[in-house]
Amino acid sequence: MTQEQVNVLILGSGPAGYTAAIYAARAGLKPVLYQGAQPGGQLTITSDVENFPGYPEGIVGPEMMMDFQKQAERFGTDIRYGLATSVDFSGYPLKVIVDETHEITANAVIIATGASAKWLGLPSEQRLNGKGVSACAVCDGFFFKGQDVAIVGGGDTACEEASYLSKLANKVYMIVRRDELRASKIMQKRVLNNPKIEILWNTVTEEVLGTLDVEGVRLLNRVTGEKKDLPVKGFFVAIGHKPNTEIFKGFLEMDENGYIKTIPGTTKTNVPGVFAAGDAQDHVYRQAVTAAGTGCMAALDAERFLAEKEVEAA
Ligand code: NAP
Repeated sequence: MTQEQVNVLILGSGPAGYTAAIYAARAGLKPVLYQGAQPGGQLTITSDVENFPGYPEGIVGPEMMMDFQKQAERFGTDIRYGLATSVDFSGYPLKVIVDETHEITANAVIIATGASAKWLGLPSEQRLNGKGVSACAVCDGFFFKGQDVAIVGGGDTACEEASYLSKLANKVYMIVRRDELRASKIMQKRVLNNPKIEILWNTVTEEVLGTLDVEGVRLLNRVTGEKKDLPVKGFFVAIGHKPNTEIFKGFLEMDENGYIKTIPGTTKTNVPGVFAAGDAQDHVYRQAVTAAGTGCMAALDAERFLAEKEVEAA
């Protein structure tokens, strides 16, 4: 195992991680950033981003994340390939192991490991990802203005996204695998009373249809056994997200779904010197701009923490 001591260690390379890096580097904190399993984060699997301020014409997700990276590099962030595989936050300095081979001790750690959308796991879903298949209605709904779309899921997210899509699309089909919704009563009411939303009960998706773009979905009714092809242009998957926080279990306080708990109004976790930003701690907003905002907060919180440590040591 190789060893290294760093000042500020940032885990993750989505908007939260890179924004934390920009602020930490400009504050002279010499951040080292590990990009994680998906360099650039979830936005690298998005096509056009039109709701991030500062890009009036919109920008494609991967290009935007290159801009984030370049900006972080410009101020001297040490950006590396590598995945944090375990941590030990029981002592100080904080310990993080990268790729199971490199042990880093850090004075402060900013966790920006994000979350991953859950997918159905169909090969056609994967093949048409970004070509009509999306896990984010707020990001991609706009591209289906006036068209027919389908959304899978029956939780609060699916209901919220179906309502959102109904303002843009011509018609929204909700594909629900049981004969009831999991969502809260108020969200249920909202979709049930929306004339543009049609719920397909007891229905599962067998295949997303289309060669270059989504052209429809093949559905199976689990009760009647009936199969049908439904023509839609957009296929949204809203069956939940999973925060990438597994390695922090046992050290950081989390909610029942694994989202890291932070002290409200800050990015502080229960471990002094460990800060959490972006989707790893946010299951409500989950936007690039809000992730970037909390990344900025994490760098400022880390800077204050380190300044106080220095005063203590003096
Ligand atoms: P969720 O509550 O876990 O719901 C997931 C939904 O997807 C369920 O209807 C589930 O069906 C369905 N599903 C799961 N796997 C599936 C599969 N393989 N095929 C088809 N359907 C599948 O997830 P969520 O809606 O993302 O919500 C996560 C948490 O955030 C919840 O606590 C929710 O209340 C909260 N949230 C709150 C708000 C709000 O208050 N405004 C908004 C969004 C989310 P089954 O029911 O059959 O399992």
